[in-house]
Amino acid sequence: MVLVFETDGEIIMTTLETQPGELIDIGVNLTNKRLLTNIDQVLQQATEVNVTKLIVTGTSIEHSKIAVELCNQFPDQLFCTSGIHPHDAKEWDQDSLQQLKSLASLDCVKAIGETGLDFNRDFSPRNQQIDVFQQQLELAIEYKKPVFLHQRDAFDTFITLLQENRDQLKNVVSHCFTDNKKALYKLLDLDCHIGVTGWICDERRGQELQKLVKDIPSNRLMLETDAPYLLPRDLPEKPAGNLNLPKYLPHILQTVARLQNKETHILAAETLSTTKQFFEI
Ligand SMILES: [Zn+2]
Repeated sequence: MVLVFETDGEIIMTTLETQPGELIDIGVNLTNKRLLTNIDQVLQQATEVNVTKLIVTGTSIEHSKIAVELCNQFPDQLFCTSGIHPHDAKEWDQDSLQQLKSLASLDCVKAIGETGLDFNRDFSPRNQQIDVFQQQLELAIEYKKPVFLHQRDAFDTFITLLQENRDQLKNVVSHCFTDNKKALYKLLDLDCHIGVTGWICDERRGQELQKLVKDIPSNRLMLETDAPYLLPRDLPEKPAGNLNLPKYLPHILQTVARLQNKETHILAAETLSTTKQFFEI
């Protein structure tokens, strides 16, 4: 915030540090051992910078169950998603759907996912990724929950599946968006939300997203760290072990605010309201 005073015809400008305000990190891999072993400290440090709530990402049945346990342990601070990541699609068996259904019915499970397609790493066969993605879209429709989506190098197949199911789905977020303008516009056309991570702070890989972020309407933009992955590359001090943490979310907020030419506390308030509406929290 810039304050302007006038004394004896002289104009004095003062910049006040405005507290960014409450934030919610919509994607934290808190079940990852690197975060789980220090969970009290991780959550404490997030609270200190006003990151008041975290959505724990469920990436497999096992990790989704741990995520639910964490929500029970920290009910004021944590919510979670539950689902099977495309990397883990090969683990799908006849028991999986039933297990996902019992997870989906829990109150702390605010979205189905992380699900989607990853043809970059191909850790699971593509036809199995497609099948497991489709089943989870149907699950989200049945349980009337939002979906938390991952996509890498699979946009055409991904958007086709999404298109076919979109009118029955509730809210949809493409988490950790790193794609091009065409992909962004197609997602916005389908009324999807966009999750932005510290990828945007990368001076090389993040260039395209830095230009595009202005085109994301504030009622469709949400922020996430994807911790412990994707440490913002331009932090003033490099943390030990390159470990990304939810406490760096305000840094991502500031970067987006600068690129959108907006005051940080305004962007904070907008993304907070968008996030609460999206996850119904
Ligand atoms: Zn992902």
